Amino acid sequence: MILSLIAASAAASLPSPSTTRMRSDVATLVGFGTRHTASTTSDPRRGIGAARNWAAAQFEQIGRRCGGCIKVERIERRFTGPRAPGGVVVEDVLGIQPGRDPNRVVIVGAHIDSRVTDVMDATSDAPGANDDASGVALVLEAARNLAGRQFDATIVYAIFSGEEQGLWGATLLAETAKARGWQVSAMLNNDIVGNTVGQGGVRESRWVRVFSEGIRASEDNPAQLVRRGNGGEDDGPSRALAKAIDGIAAKGRFGLDVFIDRRPDRFGRGGDHEPFLKLGYPAVRFSVANENWDAQHQDLRTDRGVVYGDTIDRMDFGYLAKVTAINMATLARLAAAPAAPNSVTIKGALSRDTDVSWPAVPGASRYRVSWRRTDAADWTACREVTGTSTILSQTPVDDHFVGVSAIGRDGAESLVTFGGR
Ligand SMILES: [Zn+2]
Repeated sequence: MILSLIAASAAASLPSPSTTRMRSDVATLVGFGTRHTASTTSDPRRGIGAARNWAAAQFEQIGRRCGGCIKVERIERRFTGPRAPGGVVVEDVLGIQPGRDPNRVVIVGAHIDSRVTDVMDATSDAPGANDDASGVALVLEAARNLAGRQFDATIVYAIFSGEEQGLWGATLLAETAKARGWQVSAMLNNDIVGNTVGQGGVRESRWVRVFSEGIRASEDNPAQLVRRGNGGEDDGPSRALAKAIDGIAAKGRFGLDVFIDRRPDRFGRGGDHEPFLKLGYPAVRFSVANENWDAQHQDLRTDRGVVYGDTIDRMDFGYLAKVTAINMATLARLAAAPAAPNSVTIKGALSRDTDVSWPAVPGASRYRVSWRRTDAADWTACREVTGTSTILSQTPVDDHFVGVSAIGRDGAESLVTFGGR
C-alpha cells in the first residue's frame, strides 16, 4: 500500500504523452526508407545516417526549450561480425539530462535501426514502424515530458544502432557506462512497444510485457553457487526493477497492466537490455502483449492474401502512449530516489530473529526493510528505519526473504536490494 502511494506521487505531476507527436515521430522515421545499420550515412533524406541526425536534432530542440537541460552526445565504435563482415561504424545518439549526481544514471533506450527479411539487405525499404520506431518515439516523448525537471540521478535517453546486427549499440553504451564509472540505477529497453493486434488478428491491449532475468548473467559460477545457498532467483536487480514497474503501474493508474515476464527476453531471443545485464546493471525489456510476426523483419509484400511489413497503419498510438507513461513514471521515480543499497547482509542462524544490515546510501533519508515468507511472491511486510540495521524478531532467517530499499527526502524509493550472506 505504501509502495503504491509513493509511486502515485512520483507519477502524479507528469504530463501525458502525446499520441500526435509520437505518430509524427514514427512517420518521420519510416520516411527515411531504410534505417538498416549498414545503410547510407551520407544521404540527407534516406538511411540510418539521416535518421540519427534527425534524432539528434530532436534532442537539441528539446534541450533548447529547457535552457540546455538536455545535452546531445554521439558515441561510436566500429563493429565486425557475421552480420557485418566488412565492419560497420555503429553510432548511438544520446540525450543526457544531468541530475544532481552526474555519475548515477537511469537509462531509457530503443534501437533506431530496422531490417527486412534478409538481415544483410541494407537498401530495401524497411519501415520498422513498430520495430523499433515505436521505442524511439517513446524515448523522445519521455525526454520532452521530463525535460526541465531536476532529478537526483542523470537521465540518459539512448537511441541505439546495430541492434539487428548483434546488440552492438547497446553493447557500446553499456561498456561506455562502465568505462566512465557510471552507477546505473536502471536501464529500460523499449523494443516493439506500439501494436495491440498480434499474429492472427488477436488483439490484446490490457497489458505490456516486462522481461527480466532470474539467473544473473553477471554472476560467475562460484557466485551462482553462493546464490543457490541464499535464494534470490526471483529478487535480482533486474527482477526488482520489473516488480517496481509493476507497482508503479498498479491499480490501473495508466490503464495498462504490467505482465512481469520472468524470462530475460522472449523465448530464445534477446534485446538491448542484455549487454547491461551482463555488466550487472538492473535492466528490463518492455514489449507488447501480442507480437505480429507478419509485421516484423519482413520484406514489404502481399503473398497469398497475407500482407507483410512493419508499417505504421498496424500500430496503436493510444497503447504506445500508455507504455510511454509507465516508462516516464519509472524514470521519474528512480531518478528522484537515492541509489539502492550496494548490499544487504542478513544473519540469524539458530535464532528466531533475523539481523539485517546494509551500508549507508548517500542522499537517503531513511530505509525500508521488506520481508516475506519464502513461499510468497511479493513482500508482505515492511518497516522504515533511519539507521543502517534492524532486527526482525520472530522472523526466522531460514523461512524469510529480506530486502532493503533507500528512500529520498521527497519519498521516492529506490529498487530493493536482496539480502544474503
Ligand atoms: Zn527490435
